[in-house]
Amino acid sequence: MPPLKRKRDYARIIIVLSGVLPLLLGIMFTAIDARHTLQQQQISAANTLLSQAEKMSDSAWDMITWLRQYHYQSCDNIEGKLQRAGTLNAYFRAIGKLEGQKITCSSAYGLNPGTLSDMMQRAPPVTGKAWWSLSLAGTAGVPNRPAVIFVRQLPDTKGFWAIIDGQYLMDFMSALGEARGYRFTMRFNDGAPIVVGKESPPSSSLFNTQRYQAQSSRYPISVTIETPGAELMRAWRQVMFIFLPMTAILSVLLMVLTANWLQRRISWRDEIRRAINARQFSVHYQPVYNNNTQTCGGAEALLRWTLPNGEPVRPDIFIGAAEAEGMIVPLTRHLLDLVADDVQEWEVAPGFHIGINVAAEHLQHPAFIQDMLNFAEKIKHKQLLITLELTERSLIKEGEDVAKKLDRLRSEGMVVAIDDFGTGHCSLSYLQNFALDYLKIDRGFINAIESLSGETPVLDAIITLSHKLQLEVLGEGVETALQYLYLRQRGVTFIQGYYYASPMENGALIAWLAEYGQQPLHREELHDAQLHPS
Ligand code: C2E
Ligand code: CA
Ligand code: CA
Repeated sequence: MPPLKRKRDYARIIIVLSGVLPLLLGIMFTAIDARHTLQQQQISAANTLLSQAEKMSDSAWDMITWLRQYHYQSCDNIEGKLQRAGTLNAYFRAIGKLEGQKITCSSAYGLNPGTLSDMMQRAPPVTGKAWWSLSLAGTAGVPNRPAVIFVRQLPDTKGFWAIIDGQYLMDFMSALGEARGYRFTMRFNDGAPIVVGKESPPSSSLFNTQRYQAQSSRYPISVTIETPGAELMRAWRQVMFIFLPMTAILSVLLMVLTANWLQRRISWRDEIRRAINARQFSVHYQPVYNNNTQTCGGAEALLRWTLPNGEPVRPDIFIGAAEAEGMIVPLTRHLLDLVADDVQEWEVAPGFHIGINVAAEHLQHPAFIQDMLNFAEKIKHKQLLITLELTERSLIKEGEDVAKKLDRLRSEGMVVAIDDFGTGHCSLSYLQNFALDYLKIDRGFINAIESLSGETPVLDAIITLSHKLQLEVLGEGVETALQYLYLRQRGVTFIQGYYYASPMENGALIAWLAEYGQQPLHREELHDAQLHPS
C-alpha cells in the first residue's frame, strides 16, 4: 500500500470540482434545454393563433367584397340581407356600409347607428389607405368586449365595414394557453390590445418571464406570448428529474476516478521524492553463486522502501509507480548513491559483480551514460564489475541509440545482462543486435523444474540458446536443491535465489560474505537430492 497521504487542499478541491462540474453542467444544460423547449412551444402557439386570426381576417375581407354588390342600394332595401348575413356568419358582430364618417347601414345598430367614431368608441386611424383593420377595446353595442374592425373605403367616400367579435379569438387563446399559463396580447395595427391570461408575478432574473413576439406575414397582426418564470421553472424541473440521476452517477464516477488518479499521480510522485529526502530507501543485496569458482561471484542491488512506521512498501509496486510517473530516474540515481556508499565498506576480490537494475526510461535518458560513469567513478577503487540488468522491453524500444549507449558503457568495463529472460517480448532479434554478456532466466522457468531427469523443454532451449550465443547464464529464483542441481547439470554457471542466499541489508551482506563468500554450496539436502534423484 502507498504510504498514508498528507491530505492536500488542492487535491480535495479538484475532487470536489470533478463532482460538482457535471452537476453544474447538468443544471446549465437542462436549464438551456427547458428554455428552448418553452420557446418552441411559444412559437408553435403563436403560429397557430396567427393562422386563426388570418382565417378570420380572410372571412372579414370576403364579407366586405360580398357587400360591394350593395354599393348602389339604399339601406332600406338591404337591411334584412345584411342582418341575415351578419348573423349567419358566426364571427361577425356587425357588418354595414358607410359614407364619409357616417355609418349608413348596419346589420346590428339599426337605421341610425351614428358615426364610425361612435361605433368604434375612438377616432378612426389616419392610415391613408383604402383598406384597413384595427383591434378595438369595445364597440357601441358591446362596449366591454374587444373586437376587430375591417374597413374598405371607396374613392366616392362610400365604404363597407365588418366587425369581428373578439370573443372568438379570446376563446381560442384561452384554449391554447390555459395549460401553460400563457398570457397573449394580440393587436391589429396599432389598435387596442386583445389580452388573455394573467399577468405574471415578478420573478427572479434566472427564471424571468419568457416573452415571444410574432407577426403575421399576410396581415398587420402581431401576437405576444408571455410565459411566467414559474412555468420555466416547472419545465426545467421536469428535465432535471430525468437527467439528475444520470448526472449524479456521472459526478460520483468522475470523483472516484479523479481521486484515484490524484492518489496515483500526485501522491506517488511526492511520496517518492519525500522518501528520498527522508532517507527511507535502502538497498538490499542478494548474493549470486558462481558454479565454476564455487564462490560468491557478486550481488544484485535491490531497492527497499521502509516507511517510518517500519512497514515496507513492495518494490514491484513502488518501482512500477516510479516508472509510471517519471520518478524512476531520480530514484535510480538515489540507489546508485546508496550503493556507492555501501560498497565503500566491502572487501571483495576484484571482478566481484554488482548488479544494477536499469529501467527502460533511464536507458533512454540523455544523462544515463553520465549517471553510470559517475557511479563507476565513485567505486572505482573497489574494482567491481558493474552489471547492468536490463529487461527485454527496454531493448526493444529505439534500438540503435540504446545499442550505442551499451557499447560505450561496455567499453568502460561494464557488462550487460538481460533480466527476467523469457517473460518479455517474443522477438529474439535483439539478441543479435545488442552486445550482451549475461542472460538471467526468469524464475518462472526455474519453478517448472520437477525432477532432475525430467524434461523442461523451454528452459532447456533457453540454456542451449545462451550457450550458442556465448552468453553466460544465470538462474533466478532458485529455491530448492533440485532446481540448483538441474541447472548445474545443464551448465548454468550462475545461481541466484533463496536457496543460496536471500537479499540482505549491507551490514548483513558484509558478515555473510566474510563467512560464506568463499565457501562452495554444500548442504545436507544437496547430498540427499543427489543420492535420491526424484
Ligand atoms: P528482479 O530484478 O527480477 O529481482 C529479483 C527479485 O526476485 C527480487 O524481488 C528478489 O527479492 C526476488 N527473489 C530473489 N530470490 C528469490 C527466490 O528464490 N524466490 C523468489 N520467489 N523470489 C526471489 P524484489 O526485491 O521484490 O524486486 C522485485 C523487482 O523490482 C525486481 O525484480 C526488479 O524488477 C525491481 N527492482 C528492485 N530493485 C530495483 C531497482 O533498484 N531498480 C529497478 N529499476 N528495479 C528494481
Ligand atoms: Ca534484476
Ligand atoms: Ca529478474
